[in-house]
Amino acid sequence: MQILSRESDATTKDNPSPGRLIIFTGPSGVGKGTLMRSLLQRHPELYYSISVTTRHPRPGEVDGKDYYFITRSKFEQLVASGEFLEWAEFAGNCYGTPREPVERQIRQGKFVVLEIELKGARQIRQTFPTAESIFILPPSFEELEKRIRTRGNDSEEAIARRLNRAKAEIDAADEFDTQIINDDLETALHALEAALFS
Ligand code: ADP
Ligand code: 5GP
Repeated sequence: MQILSRESDATTKDNPSPGRLIIFTGPSGVGKGTLMRSLLQRHPELYYSISVTTRHPRPGEVDGKDYYFITRSKFEQLVASGEFLEWAEFAGNCYGTPREPVERQIRQGKFVVLEIELKGARQIRQTFPTAESIFILPPSFEELEKRIRTRGNDSEEAIARRLNRAKAEIDAADEFDTQIINDDLETALHALEAALFS
């Protein structure tokens, strides 16, 4: 079932409070996860969509909290049975947004946030043109590389793939409704709150 369309939002007679779909995108390492964690602490009413991935967990990541970690063959089954709102391959792994919880939360009038990469963000914007989109930019490419390296868990090959992909992603920033530079974290958070709540 499509719950948001060009013509209408999620408002119905039974549910006068419209849900909103928010796309949060930007290159890997720019600080999307960091910003998202702070945003959710300050606004627990937001619903963060937990993605499914074939990537291995990083140290400290928890299954069912950071991601649902599954095998590639299970991922392919979920794709085939239409369980994803969108999905994409990124730097050698697959990532997807589970459809059912997102649709349910929007029906219930929630603000639902998807933290996803460029291809997935484009898919969502096509399917749900009323979705609001925010692109997070690094202060510089050098700082982006530093952040990816500081995070510390990716191989040189994975870092190179992520940086290579970042160039194309940054070039696409203008496609999205709002662009925010994540230089000082607190300033970026305020800009994010202004984009979402004002
Ligand atoms: P993403 O989710 O976009 O891949 P992360 O949230 O994992 O990025 O952040 C990547 C690294 O950058 C982490 O080590 C994080 O602590 C750091 N970081 C995030 N935001 C900032 C910021 N404003 N200034 C400095 N470092 C930051
Ligand atoms: P990471 O491996 O660093 O956690 O994520 C790599 C990239 O995949 C990030 O840009 C992240 O936003 C994106 N991503 C996470 N979940 C999803 C998803 O469900 N769909 C898509 N398309 N991208 C995702």
